Amino acid sequence: MNADLHTHSTASDGTLRPAELVRLAHANGVELLAVTDHDGTAGLAEAADEAARLGVRLVPGVEISVTWAAGTIHVVGLNFDPADARLEAGLAANRAGREARARAIGERLAAAGIPGAWEGALREAGAPGRVTRTHFARDLADRGVCPDAAAAFERYLAPGRPGHVPQRWAALSEAIGWIRDAGGSAVLAHPWSCALGDVGLSALLSEFRDLGGHAIEIVGGGHAWPRFAREAVRLGLRGSCGSDFHAPVPDRAGPGRLPALPSGVDPVWSGW
Ligand code: AMP
Ligand code: MN
Ligand code: MN
Ligand code: MN
Repeated sequence: MNADLHTHSTASDGTLRPAELVRLAHANGVELLAVTDHDGTAGLAEAADEAARLGVRLVPGVEISVTWAAGTIHVVGLNFDPADARLEAGLAANRAGREARARAIGERLAAAGIPGAWEGALREAGAPGRVTRTHFARDLADRGVCPDAAAAFERYLAPGRPGHVPQRWAALSEAIGWIRDAGGSAVLAHPWSCALGDVGLSALLSEFRDLGGHAIEIVGGGHAWPRFAREAVRLGLRGSCGSDFHAPVPDRAGPGRLPALPSGVDPVWSGW
């Protein structure tokens, strides 16, 4: 099964429209796809139309920003009812916080001698609740303030940098609860990139399981991670896989170009 259950479109910080993303995934052989934009489901209808046309199995997806232990982690929701009112209200609250944070980032960058960053990021994103740090990074690169988006994160947008604004996102219990109540599966995203240390990561995984989380990502970032396969089996969690695709980059794997889920791990979709 070629499954890619973590991808982004222009409904958040991806560069392809939802239909274009589905077409590329299909061309890459993806059979089971989720479009998982940050804190919103606005791209799902367009993606679903294209997936139906091409015969790709698409499940509803979203990537929810969560504040845990004073840091940010991400929880992917899969295969939920996109019309669920409580989930949508929760996502809308995260988007309202996103807009307020983006305006504050603009103010901090202006104070650091870079005016117009909020307006530039908003132009890149297309809607206030969609503005991510990626849009700031693209605008800073487009305007030549930084050589590229990666440098913009390093110099201005990462924690401790002049344009960083700490944010209070949803609580872990809320995000898992919204997804579960909407009939979906909650997946801990990219645990390999949680900067928590071994003790913090173990605490997160246990709490995630105890709160009703279903699965953790085990394949992504170009690797199958044996450590997280072991953790999933130990905790009785399922495993998920996703490219976290944002944009076509020459010589870089696109959607669906993933190592297989390690054997012994129960795939998140086996329960669907
Ligand atoms: P936000 O939710 O607005 O804080 O933006 C988070 C997004 O920024 C992530 O989903 C990534 O797409 C992107 N991102 C985070 N850190 C980096 C980085 N160091 N370099 C490039 N992109 C990053
Ligand atoms: Mn992103
Ligand atoms: Mn993420
Ligand atoms: Mn992502």
